Amino acid sequence: MFDTLSDRLTNVFDRLRGRGALSEQDVRDAMREVRVALLEADVALPVARQFIERVTERAIGQEVVKSVTPGQQVIKIVNDELIDMLGGEESDGEATPLNLAVTPPAIIMMVGLQGSGKTTSTAKIAKLLKEKEGKKAMMASLDVNRPAAQEQLAVLGEQADVATLPIVPGQQPVDIAKRALNAAKLQNIDVLLLDTAGRLHVDEALMAEMKAVAGAADPAEVLLVVDALTGQDAVNVAQSFTDEVPLTGVVLTRMDGDARGGAALSMRAVTGKPIKFAGTGEKLDAIERFHPARVADRILG
Ligand code: GDP
Repeated sequence: MFDTLSDRLTNVFDRLRGRGALSEQDVRDAMREVRVALLEADVALPVARQFIERVTERAIGQEVVKSVTPGQQVIKIVNDELIDMLGGEESDGEATPLNLAVTPPAIIMMVGLQGSGKTTSTAKIAKLLKEKEGKKAMMASLDVNRPAAQEQLAVLGEQADVATLPIVPGQQPVDIAKRALNAAKLQNIDVLLLDTAGRLHVDEALMAEMKAVAGAADPAEVLLVVDALTGQDAVNVAQSFTDEVPLTGVVLTRMDGDARGGAALSMRAVTGKPIKFAGTGEKLDAIERFHPARVADRILG
């Protein structure tokens, strides 16, 4: 058995040493290995197919360069294509920054299902912007559905040393968003993070609420929080939100548990939006900018 995708590809191609160009048959043999590896890494089937088409197109007919083995050459093509698909061709393998260049306060609206890690990620991002970029941040919870959701954010705010909007019982999400915006303006806040309500499943009421909040707050960023460990479910959730809310990026949580990085590939392809952050643990410092090149390395192994 061969463990990593790199190993598998090297094996398929080692017998091709000394040939002129990569033939269609050679490439198709290799792509079977890629397909198995992607599906084992929980990449959604249509995404795996699309990926293989793109690599095949790039690889067939390529002259085998003398200085590298055919295996290395295809690994390079797979790697480049992974980076393009994870980050978009413009990203160069680097992390995509947040777009906060608006008249302050820049609003970041966090959306996602309950349990995805939305509230934790809100506090993590606020802390990161404050500590690494010197931004004055404020957070507000618009979650009036789940008991104690607003208190949970207040507790995280204390831990992260980031201000939270005082809780006014009975106020509805759009009104909380407006109050947060006024408070942020008065206090010269640079970045206001709105932690919206989640649900156990995507439903119409949730989407209507997200649209209403987005309409009232005019966010600079709308970040969808998804759990990397939920596989195909995460892909379906991403699809539903993409159809309804103007997303600008994705936060992929529990990357600490997803050794293979497959969810990242699916997510980028389904939403068409860059993954901006990866959650890597429960602590408030456990968040990283998402680097396509590093995740491509992880998928290749
Ligand atoms: P919400 O319902 O979407 O707001 O989810 P929470 O933010 O309350 O998170 C649910 C649980 O997931 C909490 O126990 C978090 O500590 C945990 N969690 C969030 N992000 C991560 C992550 O990146 N890695 C790990 N291991 N746990 C996480």
